[in-house]
Amino acid sequence: MGKFSIAIHGGAGTITPSSMTPALEVKYKEALHQAIERGSKILASGGKALDAVQKTVEVLENTPLFNAGKGSVFTKHGMHEMDAAIMCGKTLQAGAAAGVYSIKNPVSLAREILEHSDHVFMSGYGAEDFARKQHIEFAPEDYFFDMFRYKQWCEVRDSDIFMLDHTVGDEKFGTVGAVALDMDGNLAAATSTGGMTNKNYNRIGDTPVIGAGTYANNDTCAISCTGHGEYFLRAVVAYDISCLMEYKGYSLQQACEKVVMDKLVRFGGEGGLIAVDALGNIAMPFNSEGMYRACQMSNKPPIVAIYKDEIKAVSEL
Ligand code: ASP
Repeated sequence: MGKFSIAIHGGAGTITPSSMTPALEVKYKEALHQAIERGSKILASGGKALDAVQKTVEVLENTPLFNAGKGSVFTKHGMHEMDAAIMCGKTLQAGAAAGVYSIKNPVSLAREILEHSDHVFMSGYGAEDFARKQHIEFAPEDYFFDMFRYKQWCEVRDSDIFMLDHTVGDEKFGTVGAVALDMDGNLAAATSTGGMTNKNYNRIGDTPVIGAGTYANNDTCAISCTGHGEYFLRAVVAYDISCLMEYKGYSLQQACEKVVMDKLVRFGGEGGLIAVDALGNIAMPFNSEGMYRACQMSNKPPIVAIYKDEIKAVSEL
């Protein structure tokens, strides 16, 4: 049995100390702590990376602070449409769901698709129907109602503006995700989101698209992205990082640096990602002001951070 590593995110964007109250900062950090603890416990007791990323993302989905599950933003029609994906780096099996509206934990549906369906990607009614057959937990519409998200939407509902999560005028992305390496050497990634405030109905971002917002491959790395989905889709971000490692021999850090701090920036794509490689190295690059994030390696305490420069290098771990 080897070592384990886990990293999580709760979204990236214009997150600065001045845009935050001390009380809110404490809340975010507590939520990140709680989530990473859930995943680390699974991994420390010899559990699978796939279970660790799913359960960790479920904790984040259940927190209204983040734009996923319970905290999902409103679409143009005043509804919620959630997307999620999960991938196993050992088997390259994947499950993804888009545009689901009454699934309590969309990542659990993605896992069910991975485990019990011949398909990889389902959407809308069909995905919900499959969930019902698999006895996935549903939640009533008011479970997803959050006053903060509602007010955000009211400010733009009569316009064509579709907005990134958290703050009007600021670009923030509240998607959640987890990547992990378990003690058997297997990688996994999971991502879940409510998308963007006032997004067109049936709009799908990068999150559930395997290779764009979510990817895992034992030969290279596991990646979960957050940011302006349209750019991450066109840049095929997660798979691009894996390819740079596989075909060009880049290290995880070099590949992440190239894609997030160079390619995406030139492209105009704001956001970030979390990544772990087959050796347990972790990278958490972002080209925005901040990213809610945390990571932990076996036998070391977890590190939780929000702003730029809070962790100089993960090698400090
Ligand atoms: N990437 C997500 C999307 O475009 C948004 C986010 O990361 O918050 O749907």
